[in-house]
Amino acid sequence: MSDTQLLTEQIALTLPDGSIRQYPKGATGNDVAKSIGRKLYEDALGIKVNGKLRDLNLPIEEDAAIEIVTFDSDEGKELYWHSSSHLMAQAIEELFPGTKFGAGPAIESGFYYDISSEHRFTEDDLRKIEERMMEIAKRDLVITREELPRDAAIEYFKTKRIDPYKVEILEGISEPIVSIYHQGGFTDLCTGPHLPRTSKLKAVRLTNISASYWRGDSSREQMQRIYGISFPSEKLLKQHFAQIEEAKKRDHRKIGQEMELFLISPKVGSGLPIWLPKGAIIRQELENFLKEEQFKRGYQAVYTPHIGSIELYKTSGHYPYYKDSQFPPITFTDETGKEEQYLLKPMNCPHHHQIYAAKPRSYRDLPIRLAEFGTVYRYEQSGELNGLTRARGFTQDDSHIYCRQDQLQEEICNVIDLTQLVFSTLGFADVQTRLSFRDKSNKAKYGGTDELWEQAENDVRAAAEKMKLSYFIGIGEASFYGPKIDFIVRDAIGRKWQLGTVQVDYVMAERFNLTYTGSDNKEHRPVIIHRAPFGSMERFIGVLIENFAGDFPLWLAPAQVAVLPIVDAVNDYAAEVVETLKAEKIRAELDERSEKIGKKIRDAEVKKIPYMFVIGEKERDAKSVAVRRHKEGDKGVKPLDETIAMLKEEIASRK
Ligand SMILES: [Zn+2]
Ligand SMILES: [Zn+2]
Repeated sequence: MSDTQLLTEQIALTLPDGSIRQYPKGATGNDVAKSIGRKLYEDALGIKVNGKLRDLNLPIEEDAAIEIVTFDSDEGKELYWHSSSHLMAQAIEELFPGTKFGAGPAIESGFYYDISSEHRFTEDDLRKIEERMMEIAKRDLVITREELPRDAAIEYFKTKRIDPYKVEILEGISEPIVSIYHQGGFTDLCTGPHLPRTSKLKAVRLTNISASYWRGDSSREQMQRIYGISFPSEKLLKQHFAQIEEAKKRDHRKIGQEMELFLISPKVGSGLPIWLPKGAIIRQELENFLKEEQFKRGYQAVYTPHIGSIELYKTSGHYPYYKDSQFPPITFTDETGKEEQYLLKPMNCPHHHQIYAAKPRSYRDLPIRLAEFGTVYRYEQSGELNGLTRARGFTQDDSHIYCRQDQLQEEICNVIDLTQLVFSTLGFADVQTRLSFRDKSNKAKYGGTDELWEQAENDVRAAAEKMKLSYFIGIGEASFYGPKIDFIVRDAIGRKWQLGTVQVDYVMAERFNLTYTGSDNKEHRPVIIHRAPFGSMERFIGVLIENFAGDFPLWLAPAQVAVLPIVDAVNDYAAEVVETLKAEKIRAELDERSEKIGKKIRDAEVKKIPYMFVIGEKERDAKSVAVRRHKEGDKGVKPLDETIAMLKEEIASRK
């Protein structure tokens, strides 16, 4: 061992798997990634040091817990897209000197940059900018961070790189030290973090140009906003755009209209979906499924009104703290001159708490599980509304479970089990779970004591372990009243949806003064679990429509069988088949039109009806049907009673 090695101070870095490795003090994220593996080094975009995302190029000076961040994570994507916006700015500056730059953030899917220029940017320009971006990527420029006093930065953007927007941003902030990022000849004001080198950019598509105002203020200068998205491989870029095409075909608003499932009528109001008869069948089937399961699991159904006194929501804290996401109160004066105020209910919980509070409860009564398909109303911005998936009126498959602390873990397990059953029945095989915990460095944000939080988070984690959930932890994702479990499913085309939550709540029992008498004869607070496996019926069905592209499994299909007579002479028998199916609670449609059988089959296929019974004279005489399966074709001639038995089994299995 040489003397220099002996002199090098070592730091201990803890990897996500818990293993600890020694590195020389000042090692960078790049060094760490390289030491773990070539592939990780290539994929690495940033590094989390004690939970904080940083540049890979920066030295690490102390012992720390670290995690290499790649494009697979949301943080990785954000970093990647944000750096891509800088790359785009550099390309624009090279191609269109004199352009000034406003803000250039990453967004949910990609990035944009607001720019100011005399030149009106066109589609052709976007192609040129893309090309230049790839050229800059090939230059493999190192991206470096420089920290400097704010005044020096202002001076820099006034004299060296003249950009009045950056100066204005700097003049509006109070931090004494700010950071700028350099790549080649290009410099941008930025808090970072950023990619280590421009060569990390492998594929880019600039998608759109729109008008914007500096700082979103219509009294300020108009700017041009260029949107784009980028990926660490051409393959990922292709996949992304293929997914967008597929998503368009599956859009639930389009399929919902074609299949006559639901309606949004401007005369009723935006964001207020109306269920048409066929859509109502899907919803009823889902509700029946959950009601059966809840009955088996000891839930009690209740009904509560659609409005509630504003006092109720002042007690819960939903008013005024969430008033921006609610419809304004209904205010009126009654016949005695007393003023009253009501809210369209934004949630069902306070109503259920009144049911709990309506009589004395003993420890022996718990757990109490109240369930309701409760409709709630929330004010969403009109620009945010999206068919069923983002609505202003929707129905939650809500339940509140009141239990003792010693019952909490088991109750969480039961709720996880029910949620898993819901997802597996609907064919969602890829389910991720996030345990949403509080951010301990920001305790003021949360109600309840430290002790309760520790216990609740331990119980949630223990339940997740026991139920063998593959989970990750989201620090700071908890609600203010307790930790949550959020379920994120991947649909048939790989998109992620957050569906279903389980929340533990220590705050509302306090606020509503809910108690039970313990075995010690003293009063205690119950723990409340809020849970909704579907979440919102509207949103869930919107996701289902897109997931199945309207091809619902038999048990959910609005029409399950199309009965198709080949000739008019068998119409009577065909009508008889429909009646027999109805008597067996199978939903059937008769196509009596004098059309060719080929056309009738095609039409039934378009309507996505799972089974077709084709009937000719032979079938009539033998009391049989020729069975066709949607998308699969001919399944042969079978006796009617046998076919019905087969269908009933398929429906009962909910497969
Ligand atoms: Zn930036
Ligand atoms: Zn609730």
